[in-house]
Amino acid sequence: MKGKVYLVGSGPGGLGLLTQRARQVIDQADVVLYDQLPGEEVLATLPEKAEKIDCGKFGGTHTLEQETIEALMIKKAKEGKRVVRLKGGDPFLFGRGGEELEVLREHNIPVELVSGVTSALAVPGAVGIPLTHRKYASQVTIITGHEEPGKPISGLDWENLAKNPGTLVILMGVKNIPVITQNLVSHGKDSETPVAIIERGLRPDQRVTAGTLRTIADLVKLRGVRPPAIIVIGDVVKLYREDGPGLVPF
Ligand code: SAH
Repeated sequence: MKGKVYLVGSGPGGLGLLTQRARQVIDQADVVLYDQLPGEEVLATLPEKAEKIDCGKFGGTHTLEQETIEALMIKKAKEGKRVVRLKGGDPFLFGRGGEELEVLREHNIPVELVSGVTSALAVPGAVGIPLTHRKYASQVTIITGHEEPGKPISGLDWENLAKNPGTLVILMGVKNIPVITQNLVSHGKDSETPVAIIERGLRPDQRVTAGTLRTIADLVKLRGVRPPAIIVIGDVVKLYREDGPGLVPF
């Protein structure tokens, strides 16, 4: 008997944006290897009968190393189990889902991708910020603001990013916001460009901090902004309203 691994995205938070396919495979899982990013509401619904393994990975803290997680998935699948690897948002957008797919393929383990609603799109949306708008932005760039040891974020093409007229969305960028804003401005981006940071989007304690490239790093410090948070930079942020019309979190 051969098992199968499901790389499952849980969406940005809460049960509202968990897909029906995700619900189905989670409910039928023998083993669930979960990150913390899916959030309490989703994690509270993991099936009682399933073996549940906390892989951690939240704001840089790793409970289990990536290699250990991959080895566990392989081992459980080879035992013939239905293994769910549960991640926040979509597994293939900064979720290391691509790496896991490669390893599973190497071991000839059947894999199914269950796409999730990415936070990059849904979290700004939840506070009334569309990533594109005919008046403000015709393109979107999504980058990571996370600095890997030995791989500085200066590895990003800042000149290009600063010139880019569209919306810039940054995941994992809270810690590096001073470097990010500095890099953009020093490469020519207008320091009055609007910026919004949404912490814990679509969760009960969601919070938005809005400013400009010039002010945002200080605001982050002042308000103690913490991950997980999405940073949106560009004129679409002008559409943000504190009481966003018709935008009631579910
Ligand atoms: N695969 C995920 C992203 C994983 S990287 C996705 O598609 O959404 C982790 C980063 O995602 C966090 O540091 C944060 O920038 C962002 N993130 C995920 N969920 C979030 C949420 N509910 N609110 C704010 N940011 C979130």
